[in-house]
Amino acid sequence: MQETPLQILNRVFGYERFRGDQAEIIDRLLAGDDALVLMPTGGGKSLCYQIPALLRPGTAIVVSPLIALMQDQVDAMRQLGVAAAYLNSTLDPEAAQGVEEALRAGTLDLLYVAPERLLTERFLGLLGEARIALFAIDEAHCVSQWGHDFRPEYIQLGLLHTRWPEVPRIALTATADAPTRAEIVSRLGLERAHQFVSSFDRPNIRYRVVEKANPRQQLLDFLRREHPQDAGIVYCLSRKRVEDTAAFLAAEGFTALPYHAGLAAEQRRAHQARFLREEGVVMVATIAFGMGIDKPDVRFVAHLDLPKSLESYYQETGRAGRDGLPADAWMTYGIGDLVTLRRIIEDSEADERFKRIERQKLDGMLGYCETIACRRQVLLEYFGEHRVEPCGNCDTCLEPVDTWDGTEAARKALSCIYRTGQRFGSAYLTDVLLGKDHERIRRFGHDRVSTHGIGQELGAAQWRSVYRQLVAAGLVEVDHQGHGALRLTERSRPLLRGEARIELRRDPEPRRAQRARQGT
Ligand code: ADP
Ligand code: ZN
Repeated sequence: MQETPLQILNRVFGYERFRGDQAEIIDRLLAGDDALVLMPTGGGKSLCYQIPALLRPGTAIVVSPLIALMQDQVDAMRQLGVAAAYLNSTLDPEAAQGVEEALRAGTLDLLYVAPERLLTERFLGLLGEARIALFAIDEAHCVSQWGHDFRPEYIQLGLLHTRWPEVPRIALTATADAPTRAEIVSRLGLERAHQFVSSFDRPNIRYRVVEKANPRQQLLDFLRREHPQDAGIVYCLSRKRVEDTAAFLAAEGFTALPYHAGLAAEQRRAHQARFLREEGVVMVATIAFGMGIDKPDVRFVAHLDLPKSLESYYQETGRAGRDGLPADAWMTYGIGDLVTLRRIIEDSEADERFKRIERQKLDGMLGYCETIACRRQVLLEYFGEHRVEPCGNCDTCLEPVDTWDGTEAARKALSCIYRTGQRFGSAYLTDVLLGKDHERIRRFGHDRVSTHGIGQELGAAQWRSVYRQLVAAGLVEVDHQGHGALRLTERSRPLLRGEARIELRRDPEPRRAQRARQGT
């Protein structure tokens, strides 16, 4: 008699019970239906196709873009006694031939294959001779042209359905915003698939955003105070910043290793291995690091630079606390990040529609940083999940943000942009408001504009905060061509005309905020 999925879970995988939607997803596939699974990283997506692979006759074909991970997955499956193999460019021809023969002979339960390999006529022909249990399309968001993991080959995966309409398919991803989901459905022809959307909440992760002042020092304080011995990841935008930060932390006594695409493959592998094996290693990395990293006890993910979207932020912070124990997502952010990311978007070769989407994503990220509401609410809302209660485990919940009537200040800030010709960034504008009269200001004659010195009731940090919030609220935009110059938008008019008011968040003074946190 055939085993049940639960029996397989117990016997082969050694787990007691299914998590979340796993059991139902497996039942769907066993019934021959398609499924689209949106589950956060670490949620347990793999079992959703691994168990049906063992129960359905034939070989399950798993399409995955992550060549580096195939071998790990296959090794893990083999240790459990499952007949698994992979096919990608790292195999020598002989080994590849062996795998192909096993496929033809029907002795494999699972075959992992890179999309470019799958799509060759040769391999498709081979599949024609084999018995296929199911198709699993992992990292299905790679089909989205507007996502940063776009893989052109993924678009052609629709042909699997055309050629093998009777074989059930399961598409899996941890990226769940509505447009991506819609794109997966339409490109892969999954209109009839059952959609399983898990909650993306990671309740054990505490989200915090601090104003960027001296980021390395702020990071050091954070690590010393809260994670002196812990493993964690520090994300930076550039390779240089990765190198500098890793060296800085190492000099301060941390086991800190750099990781970025500019390092030799061997060194990257070695650093990754140490991060996984040793305790308390801090990986300082660009976003090149992390895809598929399954280390349960990552206690913090720190961002020294703003990620370019909330999807990226969620993915990156999601590497913390997979064991369910408390973990921190900590980030420093300043308006300079925004300027840099805007420039990266504008300087890219992408077409206008792509750029518009990237800008919107960045705006979402900014909204998260500047929110006075619960950060978790903002984050989950972005993924289409509405949460009524504030979470109690983010900085805005733990230290509710004061607001103040910023109408007057905002008007001064806006008119200062206007009076100086909409050609300057927030640091310069702040100097004008504060009435500084350095060489540059005099050269432009801005010591004589009407807004010179009208902002002395606030400090420089507060003015920077006002400008950030005006950008986040869409009243001001960053002009990438003007090297981060701020410009007024249509939406600033009512405020300038005195027809609207604005509430602003009162950013804690850096020092006060630290003390408040130590007290908790
Ligand atoms: P994802 O692919 O969604 O990131 P994985 O499939 O790698 O997640 O699973 C994450 C971890 O959770 C793995 O270590 C896996 O063995 C474990 N896991 C998955 N399902 C269960 C379960 N039902 N019970 C216990 N552990 C599970
Ligand atoms: Zn909260």
